[in-house]
Amino acid sequence: MSHLPAPTPLQLIREPSIAERGVELWLKRDDLTHPEIQGNKWRKLRYNLVEAREEGHDTLLTFGGVYSNHIAATAAAGRQFEFKTIGIIRGEPTDTPTETLLTAARNGMRILWMDRAQYRMKDDPDSIESLRVQLGRHYYIPEGGTNLLALPGVIEMVNEIKEDYDYICTASGTGGTLAGIVAGLYGRRKAIGFSVLKGQDTLTPTVAQLVSDYTEQQFDNWHITSDYHHGGYARVTPELIDFIRQFKRDQLVQLEPVYTGKLLYGLYDMIGKGDFPRGTKIIAVHTGGLQGLAGYREYFPAGSI
Ligand SMILES: *Cc1c(COP(=O)(O)O)cnc(C)c1O
Repeated sequence: MSHLPAPTPLQLIREPSIAERGVELWLKRDDLTHPEIQGNKWRKLRYNLVEAREEGHDTLLTFGGVYSNHIAATAAAGRQFEFKTIGIIRGEPTDTPTETLLTAARNGMRILWMDRAQYRMKDDPDSIESLRVQLGRHYYIPEGGTNLLALPGVIEMVNEIKEDYDYICTASGTGGTLAGIVAGLYGRRKAIGFSVLKGQDTLTPTVAQLVSDYTEQQFDNWHITSDYHHGGYARVTPELIDFIRQFKRDQLVQLEPVYTGKLLYGLYDMIGKGDFPRGTKIIAVHTGGLQGLAGYREYFPAGSI
C-alpha cells in the first residue's frame, strides 16, 4: 500500500528577509505525493487502509465538509486501492455541488448528507451504531482522518527527513498531523503547530493524548500557536490572500488559504519579528490540500500566477 512517491523533497525558501535574520526555512513538499491523495491526508490514511484490509473490510466510511481535503483523499484512495467509500457530508445538499464532491463522486464515493445537529453527534456510539445498521459493515475513519492509526504514516514523513534541523512546523486542524510529528521526533528537536481554528481549547490536549496513547511517553518539545488563524477555520484576510499570491510568484509553490497559507504566513511573521535565533533551521510541512483551492476561485483563478 505504498504506491505513492516517497520520500517527498525538501525545498529551500529563498527569501531575502529570512536570510537577513540568519534563519533557514525549508519546505517539505508533501503536496507532491499525489494530486488527490495529498500530503498529510495520505500520511494519515495509509495505515488505516492497511488495517481496513487486514480486517477484511471492503468499505470505508468517513466524514467532512463540502470542501474537505480528507473526503477528497479518501475517495481517491478508495478508487486506487479498491475500497468502496461512503462520505457523510455536513449540512444540507446544495444546488451546485462543490468540485470536491463532484470529484469524490467521480471516484466512486457514495455521498450522504447529515444535518448539522446530527453531525455534531456523529462520534457518539449510538450514531456510529445506527450508521452500521443503515449502511452495513464498514471501516470507520473519523473526520479529518485523525485517529491513532494516523500517527505511523506521519512518523514515516518525519523519518524521511535525513537533514539536520531545529524546528518542524505544520498547520493544525484536528491535531493528528502534529501528534504524528511529535511522536516521530520522540523528544528530539522542536515542533510548532499553527492552529487554523479560532477556539483551540481542545487541540493541545487532543495532541498530547494521541502522542501519549501512541508512544506511552509525554514530550514537552512542542506547542501550538493560535496567533495566525486569520479569523477562524476557512476564514481569510486580504493579507493572507496577498501573501499566498506573493509566495507563489517568489517560490513557484502554490499554497492554499485554509492551512498551508496560514502556516507560512505565520512563520514569515515570526522569523521577521526575530522569534528564532540566528542559525535556526526550520522545516515547514506543505501538507497539500490544493484541491480545496477550488473553493477560493475568486481569489485564485485557475492557472493564475
Ligand atoms: C487537514 C489538513 C491539515 C490539518 O491536519 P490535522 O491533522 O487535522 O491537524 C493541514 N494541512 C492540510 C493541507 C490539511 O488538509
